[in-house]
Amino acid sequence: MNLRHAILQRLQSLQCAGIEEISRPQARKLAIALKESEAKNAPKPVSDQAGQTVQTVSTADFRPWEKRTPGPQTAQASPAQPSKSFTPRPKTTASSSSYSSSGSASSSYMAPKRTALSLEIIVPPHEDYSALPLMEDRHEALRLLGEKVRQCVRCIELVSNRTQTVLGVGNPYAELMFLGEAPGADEDRQGIPFVGRAGQLLTKMIENGMKISREENTYICNILRCRPPGNRAPMPEEAFKCRQFLDTQIDIVKPKFICCLGASAAQYLLDTTTTISRMRQREYRYRNATVVCTYHPAYLLRNPSQKAATWQDLQFLMKLMGLKVEND
Ligand code: SF4
Repeated sequence: MNLRHAILQRLQSLQCAGIEEISRPQARKLAIALKESEAKNAPKPVSDQAGQTVQTVSTADFRPWEKRTPGPQTAQASPAQPSKSFTPRPKTTASSSSYSSSGSASSSYMAPKRTALSLEIIVPPHEDYSALPLMEDRHEALRLLGEKVRQCVRCIELVSNRTQTVLGVGNPYAELMFLGEAPGADEDRQGIPFVGRAGQLLTKMIENGMKISREENTYICNILRCRPPGNRAPMPEEAFKCRQFLDTQIDIVKPKFICCLGASAAQYLLDTTTTISRMRQREYRYRNATVVCTYHPAYLLRNPSQKAATWQDLQFLMKLMGLKVEND
């Protein structure tokens, strides 16, 4: 586990333990450690379309919990959501300033209960699924993982809204994995990823464009296994909590190629804030797989003018995979 995940896990474990505030020096220490870790672990594209080595992709400003807006907006969040962001509390007098998980400003501010960060109270939320990728029968390994996912209640807001969990679909022995963002309404109803209008477009992209079978030649899954209410984008803490399932799926399927569909999938997988337009036509690595990025089919439904660019991305992928590209 890298330092960034360790820090996120520590903050979440503190919240789970009912600790809502940590001292400013401790928060600053965590922020510095995180920044150093991110600078060290920033993903670097292996090459761009022309095969040139590309030097940098910035991840320096990725702060998952800072994506939330501090102040009243955060304070009005659903009461059913137990895990809130660590956001700066407005400055108060003397030494009582602190970082609060509520993010709310209060005039009757009381000095927080100081709690030292302690390894003893950190209970890793993750279970050990390392045996699953070692199983010869990948269908069975995914079935067992699916059982665990069905029992998962890590994201309270998603759990209370989901009809069912959505693990993945396709051939677990396929070389190519498509990675989306999260289940939508249709996927939530049917328990299968990419079955709505966006899914139908993805099928056309695969079968009419790439000339391979969606069912036989691909495995499809998402960053999240539960539908976010209103089809909103995954929150960073949700992506973090679901990451173990994603990584286990990747380890079971062992794809040689992963195609990220849309900014959420690309940014969460590669841990970056780089825009999807800058990540296109480049080659990354993740867990022994070559990763490429393109637009999400749902985005293409709203912006058909980007279909040509997406086709270029698929051709880029096809060349990497050694597939025949017509008119090339
Ligand atoms: S999104 Fe993932 S981590 Fe969150 S409740 Fe669903 S299965 Fe669990």
